Amino acid sequence: MLDVKNLAVAFGDIEPLSSVSFSLKRGEILGIVGESGSGKSLTALSIIGLLHLQGGRITRGQITFEGQELTQLAEKDYRKLRGGRIGLITQNPMTSLDPLQKIGSQLDSVIKLHLGFSQAQARERTVELLDSLRIPDAALICERYPHQMSGGMKQRIVIAMALAADPDLLIADEPTTALDVTVQAQIIMLLKKLVKERDLALILITHDMSVVAQTCDKVVVMYAGRAIEQGSVQYIFHGAQHPYTQALIKCIPHGLSKGQKLTGIRGTVPTVKNYPKGCAFHPRCDRAIAICSQQQPALIAASDAVVACHLVGESA
Ligand code: SF4
Repeated sequence: MLDVKNLAVAFGDIEPLSSVSFSLKRGEILGIVGESGSGKSLTALSIIGLLHLQGGRITRGQITFEGQELTQLAEKDYRKLRGGRIGLITQNPMTSLDPLQKIGSQLDSVIKLHLGFSQAQARERTVELLDSLRIPDAALICERYPHQMSGGMKQRIVIAMALAADPDLLIADEPTTALDVTVQAQIIMLLKKLVKERDLALILITHDMSVVAQTCDKVVVMYAGRAIEQGSVQYIFHGAQHPYTQALIKCIPHGLSKGQKLTGIRGTVPTVKNYPKGCAFHPRCDRAIAICSQQQPALIAASDAVVACHLVGESA
């Protein structure tokens, strides 16, 4: 369904994203993980055609969605795709919902715009959609404003907005970050169920490795604007070879007893203006060797995965 090849993005003469490649089939959930500033959201903005709003542009690579090349698509055609065949779920529901409009009319508008329904048909679909997302009293909820709902309920409405036009691909950018843990789990379960029931493809952008472990089929790990390792979820959690991926997994808190310290990764993610020469992870890597600060490791295929590290495969 989606094929991203060698994607690179620039803001002026700064290139915060380069060499990002992955593909996704219907029914699959792909996790894009990494710390803040690794390029996850820029990848999403590139796919959904909204980079220009932040002053960025795609400088290299292809994004093919259902056989259609998106990097050359005119804005008027992108508008049909966005909110139509590609749905976006954002971190903060208030960036997707209009605080001044009732929930029902916001959903009706999306349905009318993308599916050409009449007002009566659109409202019928809105109520059906809210019912299918287990939102109680759907007809009543249609008459409410966003501020009259809890955080978890608002995020369900954002998911309903993303699903309103029956998309093939959903992109969820940190969809649970602003929610408390029990609501997070409900939203993640809901997304998994929707992918299965509606045979969608989902890109889940997150910094939370435990969410990835519970949800995804495939994982792309990003660091300093590059995809540095990718493979199946089993590979990532049981056979990851990149020291950064291994460090992210070690940071997952489980079974900690009182007073025991959480594990972290020393140092901080470099800013885009200060990407280090060679492997961008080398200042934080406990296994760095001489070449790491000099030469950027190439991405190489290693069994059923792809890794960029001098310690792995032919680069070693
Ligand atoms: Fe560490 Fe070197 Fe591998 Fe980078 S290339 S992750 S610095 S060992």
